[in-house]
Order: sequence, then C-alpha cells, then structure tokens
Amino acid sequence: MSSHFITVCQDCGYKSPFLPGSPACPKCGGLWREAIYDYANLAYSLPIVLPGRPFDIWRYRELLPVREPNPDLSLGEGGSPLIHANNLGLMLGLPNIYIKDERQGPTASFKDRQAAIMIASLKEAGITEMVCASTGNVAISYSAYAARAGIKLWAFLTSLVPAAKMREVALYGTQVVKITGTYDEAKKLAAEFAKQRNLFLDLGARSIPCLESMKTISFEVAEQLTALLGAVQPYDQKIKSSPWRSPDWYIQSVSGGMGPLGVMKGFKELHLMGLIDSEPKVGLIQSEGCAPMVHAWRQGKDTAIPVKSPHTLIATLATGDPGRTYTQIYKKMAEAQSGIIESVTDEEAFRAMHFLAKMEGLSIEPAAAVAFAGLVKLVRAGKIRPDEVVVVNCSGHTMPIERNILGEGWERNINLSSESLTEDGQEEGLLAALSSVSIDRFPRIAIVDDEPNVRTLIRRILQSQGNYQIFEASNGKNAIEMIIRDRPNLILLDLMMPDMDGFQVMDALQLIKETQDIPIIVITAKELTPAENKRLKGHIQSLMQKGDFMNDDLLDEVRALLK
Ligand SMILES: *Cc1c(COP(=O)(O)O)cnc(C)c1O
Ligand SMILES: [Zn+2]
Repeated sequence: MSSHFITVCQDCGYKSPFLPGSPACPKCGGLWREAIYDYANLAYSLPIVLPGRPFDIWRYRELLPVREPNPDLSLGEGGSPLIHANNLGLMLGLPNIYIKDERQGPTASFKDRQAAIMIASLKEAGITEMVCASTGNVAISYSAYAARAGIKLWAFLTSLVPAAKMREVALYGTQVVKITGTYDEAKKLAAEFAKQRNLFLDLGARSIPCLESMKTISFEVAEQLTALLGAVQPYDQKIKSSPWRSPDWYIQSVSGGMGPLGVMKGFKELHLMGLIDSEPKVGLIQSEGCAPMVHAWRQGKDTAIPVKSPHTLIATLATGDPGRTYTQIYKKMAEAQSGIIESVTDEEAFRAMHFLAKMEGLSIEPAAAVAFAGLVKLVRAGKIRPDEVVVVNCSGHTMPIERNILGEGWERNINLSSESLTEDGQEEGLLAALSSVSIDRFPRIAIVDDEPNVRTLIRRILQSQGNYQIFEASNGKNAIEMIIRDRPNLILLDLMMPDMDGFQVMDALQLIKETQDIPIIVITAKELTPAENKRLKGHIQSLMQKGDFMNDDLLDEVRALLK
C-alpha cells in the first residue's frame, strides 16, 4: 500500500497505513485519523520536482493520499487562477485582495478537488459503488468523476437543493434520492442506506482523501502569491526567508467545514516544510440562519451548537451540525491564536453576488457570495487591515441544466416532514422512510467474464441508463455459486474463460431447478464454430460479439429480457 504517508488516529494515537476501503482506525475504530507525510524530506525534494510539473492538483502528489495519479480519470482539476480584485479593493480600500477562482474547476466548484482525489482513491481500491449526502455541489462533482471512473453513485440531496443542481446530478447517471428534510437528516439516511447495502459511504471531513484534497488550495495559493508578489523580503539579511509567500488572511464560506480544515492543514504543512514563514489567519463565514460554528465561537466553545432547522435560502451552507469538524477547526484556531468565525445574512450575500458580478465580472453562487459579504464585514469592522494580503475562496458557480432535458422519474422522494416524526421517534422515522423507497427492487444482473475491463465496461453501460443491482464473477466456479446465492434476473456470460468455460457454466445451471430458467445473454470474443452454435441453441436468449456490441444494442436486449 501507499508508503509515502501514514495515518495517526486522533483518538488513540495508533499509527497505521491507509486503506481507502477501511476508514476506521484498526485499533479503536475511531474515524478521525490524520495523514502524516515525510515533511523533512519533502522540504528538500518538493522545490526540485515542482517546476517541471503542470499546474494542477497532481503537482503535489507526494502530499496526497493516492498512490498513482490516473490521467484517465482527470478532468483538469485544480490550478484555478488567483485573480487580483482591483475594483473590490478600491471599494474597500484594500489593494491586495485576491480571488481564488474555484468556479473554473471541471464542475464549477472547489468540490472538484475532493471528488478528483476521492474517486481516484476509490478506483485504486477497486470500489465500484458509493453513497454520498450532499447540499448539491459535492454530488455534482462526485457524479462527474464517478461517471468517468465507472463508479455507481447514490446521492442523497435535501429538497432545498435547487432543482437545476439536482438535474445536473441526474444527467451524469447518478441516482438522486431527494429528501424532504434537513441536510443532517439526509446524511443520516445516506449512512443507514450505505450500511444496509454494505456500500462505501462518503465521510466528508473524516475521510482522508477528502480532507487532504483541500490542501491543494493552500499549496496553489502560496505558489501563485509568490509569482504575483515575489517572495517575502528577509527582514534580516542573515535569516533566509522562505521561498513561498502566504496571505495574511484566507477567507472562505463554511458549511460542514471540511474545506477550511483541509486548507488550514495545507498551510500548516507548508510551514512545517519551511516553504512559508507563517500561516494565514482564517476568516470563516456562515449564513446567519445556519451558523452553528459562529454560535459556539462567540461563546468560546469547542463544540458546535447544532441548528435543528436551518433558516437560510442558501442550501449549500445548510449543515446544521458540523460535529467534530468544528472542534478540529476550533483547536487549530486556538493554537494559532488567530482567525475569526463570522456570519452574514442571506440579503448581504445576495448583495455581494451583485457587486462581484458588476465590479469584477464574476458570476458566483450564493454560498460563495457569503465569503465576500464576510470580507466586507471584517474590513468594515477593522479586523482586516488595509495593508494586509487577503485571499478569498470563490468556491462555486453552477451552470444549471435546462428543465426539459431529463424527462420524468430521475429522482426518488423521501418525505420526512410528516407529523409522525416526533423528537424521540426520529430514528425509527428515518428507517421507515428509507424502507419506503424500496430501492432493492431493481433488476438483478450477473456479469460473468474473466476480463476485469470487460466487466467494468458492461457495468458502466448498464448503469449509465438504468438502475440495476449488479453482481460480478471472474470465473465459472464463482459464477455458479454467485448465481445460486444471488438469483439474478439475467446473466451476461462470457464463453471463453480458463478452467471452466461458459458452456460448462450453462450446463451446470441447466441442472439446477432454481437457475435453469434464468435468461442468459452470451458474450463472446470470437466467431463460433457450427458445433459451438449448436451447443448454445435453446439455452441462450441472445448472442453478442465482444468489442462491437453497441451500447444501445446491449441495453435494448437487457431491457427486453427483463420485461
Ligand atoms: C461545499 C461548499 C461550501 C462549504 O464548504 P464546507 O467545506 O462544507 O464548509 C461553500 N461554498 C460552496 C460553493 C460549496 O460547494
Ligand atoms: Zn484509534
């Protein structure tokens, strides 16, 4: 496994290697683990290897939890521009405001960093299906990368998420489960669903790939600021200053808090490696109607004060209970003895949307505007001084997909707003709601082929157009066991396999009462001899030539046989 880093459990201190499929500490089961790299060595090697690399997130691969960057999965993530906000600076009397324009990522939000690293990590681990809960942008970004990687995604979205975003998620082939309830409830349902079906669940800030991905923002900002402003001048000629520059302030809007937590870790690592002299103060901005971190911060508490029913129009920022992510952020801010957590109203954010578009030519989503409204507030309050260098994360801009593209039936609905959901009955209410979507009634298809690439291709073709439960086997013996156990409604069978070939599998299934009537589509790589054709006769429903089965042909055949 990856040897370039190790994880340390934050509960028991146990050190262990990272396995993408098993997020928990092997010793105590804790989910909060931190990735630690060889900073002493990287301090020397990084400045040497970086200049030859493209400006994208994989440039920092030695500090990321992926063994081998996979160019086939890339959509050009990272490397977003750092834009000087001249006019905004004039308005606020701050000449050095810079905008990290994360709208320019592949799906137009900074979640592309998370998705790129997470999906690459899952792909390395051979995981083929996953579940996430989202306030919109994570689901969009995961959907794009999962589509490329051939990973089936279930996205649990609250009904507050704008319909345009839900449609975008659906367009990528993700199954949308729309929860009429809060984001925290959607998260619980997603977790329960993943548990019931034994699927990989996205753990947000607790997931090492997710958190680590956010560091790339800090790395890029430091490199970009240095290119724009030059390295910090040594105040004493004898003391060599660090090669890179960090801003005085880093401002970002906050929902769950993974973004800022990862960014803070990034700056800390740069500091540890001696690449920057100091870490920026962070300004974290929430929407006033959902500001659990602000409430706790004002009282000097290290535990968030959950907001049961968020009152904000800005769905992206509607995390009512950030849990331990806040505690981590608080700890880091307390250690640094700097930074601030502030809130702004929805109206202030919408005003910021207008001035950013009209003065800087940037159309941004409301959640990103929250950060700019916060910047205005901090400058007006004198917290940010005119001579300071400020970087604001312009976290997102979503291109809506038009209403009439998808047709009907692309979402499943769970309504949690009914009276029956009383305080103490909540858990049962959630479970009952989940069983009511009867997701397990999807047709079951077995794919039997010894070539993993062929199985992946067929899985993708099927998943791109419908919801199927897919079972895979790589040889005849396993196939028979699997078919007896899982009782698929349809079998896609390769003929040429070592040891036990497809003919033998068919013969074996013929002898068993429970399996003899399951329809079979044979997939073969070669022309069949007349004798072989004769053997197949009467046993199979359809024959497809490998390599030239068109997506539609296979799907039409599958649909016809499942009728
Ligand atoms: C997710 C998101 C946020 C909030 O980030 P967290 O890491 O959840 O705090 C802010 N703005 C946009 C556009 C986002 O997509
Ligand atoms: Zn532990």
